[in-house]
Amino acid sequence: MTAPTNSWTPSSWKTKPVSQGVAYPDEQHLSKVLSKLDALPPLVSPSEIERLRYQLSLVQRNEAFLLHAGDCAESFDACTHENISHKIGLILSFSLILVWGARLPVVRIGRIAGQYAKPRSSNFEKVGDREVLSFRGDNVNGLDHNDRTPNPDRLLSAYFHSTATLNHIRSLLTSGFASLHHPSDWSLSHVRSPSLRREFETIIDGLSDALDFSRTIGVDPASTASYERGGGRGTVGEVDFYTSHEGLMLDYEQALTREFPIPASVLASSKTSTPLPQKAFYNTSAHFLWIGDRTRQLTGAHVEYFRGIRNPIGVKVGPTMQPEQLVRLLDIVNSDKDPGRVTLITRYGAGKIQNHLASHITSVQQSGHPVVWICDPMHGNTHTSTSGLKTRHFGAIINELTSCLRIHTECGSRLGGVSLEFTGELNDEGFSVTECVGGSMELGEEELGLRYQSFCDPRLNFEQSLDVAFLISNHFKQ
Ligand code: PEP
Ligand code: MN
Repeated sequence: MTAPTNSWTPSSWKTKPVSQGVAYPDEQHLSKVLSKLDALPPLVSPSEIERLRYQLSLVQRNEAFLLHAGDCAESFDACTHENISHKIGLILSFSLILVWGARLPVVRIGRIAGQYAKPRSSNFEKVGDREVLSFRGDNVNGLDHNDRTPNPDRLLSAYFHSTATLNHIRSLLTSGFASLHHPSDWSLSHVRSPSLRREFETIIDGLSDALDFSRTIGVDPASTASYERGGGRGTVGEVDFYTSHEGLMLDYEQALTREFPIPASVLASSKTSTPLPQKAFYNTSAHFLWIGDRTRQLTGAHVEYFRGIRNPIGVKVGPTMQPEQLVRLLDIVNSDKDPGRVTLITRYGAGKIQNHLASHITSVQQSGHPVVWICDPMHGNTHTSTSGLKTRHFGAIINELTSCLRIHTECGSRLGGVSLEFTGELNDEGFSVTECVGGSMELGEEELGLRYQSFCDPRLNFEQSLDVAFLISNHFKQ
C-alpha cells in the first residue's frame, strides 16, 4: 500500500521540486550545521504564534489593521542597537498614525529577526568579464564578489543574529521604549518637514490626553482582553510586536520546526470544521512566514512545507497568478478555511493592479476562503534610475495603494493592511536614506546617490513612510 499523498512531515517538502534552491559544495558540512540548528532553542513560542493568528482573524473581520514592514533584507552588519531601535521606532510611529486616524488597533509584524535570504531572478551575476554566483542574502553567501560560495555556517550565524535582534526587540518592548505614553522617544527628531512634524505632534498630544483621560476614569485594562486572546498584555498604552521573514531556505525552516501542544485556550475556543489535534508543528523561527512570488508553485516544495505549519502565513500574489490557481493554493494551505491563517500580499505594480486585483478578489470571495488582503505597493514598482541605481517612485507606490483601496471597495471587500519596505536608518549626521524618489521631501533622481544604503531593494525613508501612514489614516477616517 502506498502512503497517502497528503501525509505531511517537516521534511516532506524534500520530495518536491525546490525553486530557488542553494547548492552547497559540502553536504556533510550542511548536515552538521542543520543538526546543531535542530538542537538550538526556539525563538518564538506557540502561544505568541497563536495570539498573532487570532489577531489576524480580527483583521480579516475588519476589526484591526495589519502593518507588515521592514527592510527588504537584513544584513548581519546592520544588527546594531541603533538600526533595530530606529526600525521599531518607525513601525511604532507609523502604526500610531493609523491607530489615531482609523481608530483601529494595529497588528505590527516586522520584516525583522530573520529576513536574510533573497530570491533571485538569475543564479549568476556579471562582474566585469567574469560571472559569479548571485548574492542570495547573508545567510547563504557574501555580498563581496569573492565570497559567493554558499557556506552553511551562515545559517547558524543567521540564527544567532535573529536571536540577538529578537532579544533586543523584546527588551525595547518591555523597558518602556514602545509605550504609547512616550511616543516622542521613537525618534521624532528625524522628521525634518515642518508640516509632517506638526501633524505628528498633534497626534502625540491627542494621544497623551486620551491616555490621561483613560487613567483618570480608571479604564479597566481587561477591556482590551478580546484583542489579546492567548494571554496578551492587556495593558492600555502597551503594544505587541511580531517577527516575520520569507520562508525561503527550507532546510533552515525545517530545523526550527517543532511539535508542541496547541495551547489549551486555543483548543477550547476553536471553531474549525475538523477538531484541532492536541499537537501541531510550529515554525519557531518567526511568528509569521510568507511564500514569495517566485516560490509559490502549487506542486513545489515551499507550498508543501507551508501547508503543514500552524503559523499564520502570507502568500505573495503577483500579476502572473491565475485566479483559479490562487483558490487552489488556498485549498492546499488552508483546507479548513480558518480565519487568520492566510494573508494575501498583493504586489502587481501601479500599471497592472487594475487588470488583476478585481478577479483575484472575486474568485476568493466565491471560494468562501476567509483571507486578509494586504497591499505591497513596493515590489511591482521597482525600476533602474538613469544613474543605474534601483529605485521606486513614491508616486507609483501611492498610485498602487490608492487603486488597491478603491478596487477593494468596488468589489465589496476591504483592504486589511499594507506591506512596506522602509527604514528608519540614519547616516552619521542624522539624515535619512535616499533610495526612493518623491514624497513630501520631493527627493529627486539626482539625489539618490547621496545616502543610498540598501544592498537589496530601495526602501522608503522615515519621512516618506510617514507620508504613506497619513494617506492611509486619512482614507480610513472618512
Ligand atoms: C520581498 O518581499 O522582498 C520579495 C522578494 O517579494 P516578492 O516575492 O513579492 O517579489
Ligand atoms: Mn524586496
